[in-house]
Amino acid sequence: SLSDRLTGALKDLRGKGRLSGADIDATCREIRLALLEADVALPVVRSFIAKIKERAKGAEVSGALNPAQQVVKIVNEELVGILGGETRRLQFAKTPPTVVMLAGLQGSGKTTLAGKLAKWLTAQGHTPLLVACDLQRPGAVSQLQIVGERAGAAVFAPHPGTSIGGGDNALGVSAADPVDVARRGVEEARTKHYDVVIVDTAGRLGIDEELMGQAAGIRDAVQPDEVLFVLDAMTGQDAVHTAESFQSGVGFTGVVLTKLDGDARGGAALSVREITGKPIMFASTGEKLEDFDVFHPDRMSSRILGMGDVLTLIEQAEQVFDQKQAEEAALKIGSGELTLEDFLEQMMAVRKMGPIGNLLGMLPGAGQMKDALAQVDDKQLDRIQAIIRGMTPEERANPKIINASRRLRIANGSGVKVSDVNQLVDRFFEARKMMTAMAGRMGMPGARSSQR
Ligand code: GDP
Ligand code: MG
Repeated sequence: SLSDRLTGALKDLRGKGRLSGADIDATCREIRLALLEADVALPVVRSFIAKIKERAKGAEVSGALNPAQQVVKIVNEELVGILGGETRRLQFAKTPPTVVMLAGLQGSGKTTLAGKLAKWLTAQGHTPLLVACDLQRPGAVSQLQIVGERAGAAVFAPHPGTSIGGGDNALGVSAADPVDVARRGVEEARTKHYDVVIVDTAGRLGIDEELMGQAAGIRDAVQPDEVLFVLDAMTGQDAVHTAESFQSGVGFTGVVLTKLDGDARGGAALSVREITGKPIMFASTGEKLEDFDVFHPDRMSSRILGMGDVLTLIEQAEQVFDQKQAEEAALKIGSGELTLEDFLEQMMAVRKMGPIGNLLGMLPGAGQMKDALAQVDDKQLDRIQAIIRGMTPEERANPKIINASRRLRIANGSGVKVSDVNQLVDRFFEARKMMTAMAGRMGMPGARSSQR
């Protein structure tokens, strides 16, 4: 993957006190290959490498930091830049409703995104209305209705078999016109006081003039505050072409990257912003409505660089247990004072957060931990929970005191074998050590030693 290649390229620099021009050239060559292999558009690769090279050579001369560390820092900064710098927030209309139109190829994830956005907006106190303007694909309207129901959001759709605006045709089949549905949807929002309208549109498998014409028609009819171009992150070199076509055909104000959970090579993410000049605003990371977040260029960059994503992890954890608790946990992790009580709390929180797999990708060193954690199923979590509950508060706070006789008592009390207790205690100390080391590397608050 791109992450592995980049990490590899930068690893070669580690331990070098001084970088020669040849070192920099070799590293840049590796980075260039990694980017091209990940389907990053050629002009983007060129300008990226040129910037890295220039800054890296300057770094060598200044010599203030370890030059190898500086190159990593430069690559990170340039990646963040290429991904759009700061996160851009959704622009709301001064007078509601705010109209958000979704555009993109068929299968890019527009309808799913409509539900995700609706849920996300509702959580922030908004009242979104979904408008079904994909009248092309059979089943598209009912798909949006299902998605809307899951998200707890209202859906405006033409009634099946009823003719709206377009007049009856001979067969009496719906002759609804998507432009008209869009217009009426916004009207509906205005009269019924929905404050955001999300317009789902049709897509084709490829670029198509009729499709562009229809999207442009909808755009003109509803004057959206935001047009979000939805792009499947797994599209390779095609992504650039598609983005350019939508930019000239419809125009858009922001990009949403979907399917970032898949085997995305990262090329689309790195190209689209640079090529279109439009910010990536949201990221979709799965089929479920929760698999969605605001796009953070800095986090994406550290993920690409294989540094993990502690921030996103903490943010997700916050949804389940409150911020203060999270800060305390982070502090304790950093200083190596994590207790079994915290361990249990975190485990419960992780469990509530859903698929452990999604979380794993965000952890530094996820590769090694994945195997270990993949084997932990719900049953084991239950057992771990039972064991910790069988301990005294003192034992939970200070696991070092859990000697042989205590282990026997705990095992008997929680109905497990002594070996299970041993395993848990061992695993806890191991995890604490690993997390403390990680926190140090990530420069987390309270970290005992910073290796930076
Ligand atoms: P549309 O044609 O643009 O409306 O695309 P859909 O919303 O119908 O999505 C097409 C397929 O991609 C569906 O099977 C979705 O469940 C799936 N999908 C959408 N977003 C994601 C995502 O972020 N990750 C994954 N893995 N699948 C997604
Ligand atoms: Mg759709």
